[in-house]
Amino acid sequence: KLKIAIIGFGNFGQFLAKTIVKQGHTVLAYSRSDYSEVAQEIGVRYFSDADDLCEEHPEVILLCTSILSTENMLKTLPLHRLRRSTLFADVLSVKEFPRSLFLQYLPPDFDIVCTHPMFGPDSGKNGWTNLPFVFEKVRVGLDLTRDKRVEAFLDIFRNAGCRMVEMTCASHDKHAAGSQFITHMMGRVLEKLDLEDTPINTKGYESLLNLVDNTARDSFELFYGLFLYNKNAMEQLDRMDRAFEMVKKQLSGYLHDLVRKQLMLETSQDHVGSINGKSIEKKLMLPSPNTPSKIVSNDFNEKKHDLVMINDSR
Ligand code: NAP
Repeated sequence: KLKIAIIGFGNFGQFLAKTIVKQGHTVLAYSRSDYSEVAQEIGVRYFSDADDLCEEHPEVILLCTSILSTENMLKTLPLHRLRRSTLFADVLSVKEFPRSLFLQYLPPDFDIVCTHPMFGPDSGKNGWTNLPFVFEKVRVGLDLTRDKRVEAFLDIFRNAGCRMVEMTCASHDKHAAGSQFITHMMGRVLEKLDLEDTPINTKGYESLLNLVDNTARDSFELFYGLFLYNKNAMEQLDRMDRAFEMVKKQLSGYLHDLVRKQLMLETSQDHVGSINGKSIEKKLMLPSPNTPSKIVSNDFNEKKHDLVMINDSR
């Protein structure tokens, strides 16, 4: 069993701690705010001083801080009080960023594993079975015991039933920008619409309401971190912008076409008029291959019998 110190004992840190404690590991915690009471309820030893926690020589330091505060937290942790071979892990929702921070700030003797449990207190409240857990063993010393310690740490998630996905931090960020960031973005946009429960909710609408509920519960700082510290997020935001415009144009283009045809129908109802020098007449007939006139719009199935013909003969 491992002695694990959770740094950042907020929403997600506490959520993870419950399962880690249940599996029989010793859990210590340190955070900016005072969580001593909630820690006691979970069975975690809480430290309000980072020096005191590090002097307990945890084998694993698990960073559960917000993305934005991680660098500062890492810089201020008294690393010199830890054992030289300590394993550092994180659960940040972006991966290239903590990976490079760890490599930059941690002494070369420390082992590094970057992870992202792809679930949260809401989606994982009924257990972690089949929920994806992404990890990259960034740096693990050659010593066999170090490898075993990494595996013992990963076993927490393996034993809880997670689907273990080993992938590089770079690949994670690429995939996550196209999936997780878009999900959060849509949730935040829909939240701004103040969607209401109605007596005639469709299944689709229910899932939109659930999306808003799931994403709005996460802190805005987390969402902002997903955007700021994933270099692929900006590209996805641009794609969403373009997609929104495209669909809008598609709709207004269709509408424009419909209105134009309606106008042409009205003007040609009783007499033969002219548009751009071309005479127009309305004929209530199906097109025949022998019809000499040129059919300019027959793309509306429901108007098959009501075609507008433009007679090319002036
Ligand atoms: P969060 O808002 O991203 O992070 C809250 C944590 O960051 C708290 O422990 C908070 O400490 C600490 N923190 C914030 N600002 C700080 C500062 N200036 N100095 C020191 N500590 C600071 O919310 P979260 O949901 O708990 O997420 C924690 C981490 O888990 C994030 O990196 C997130 O990406 C990752 N994660 C979250 C989920 C999820 O579903 N929520 C899922 C997977 C991964 P205090 O509470 O003591 O202020």
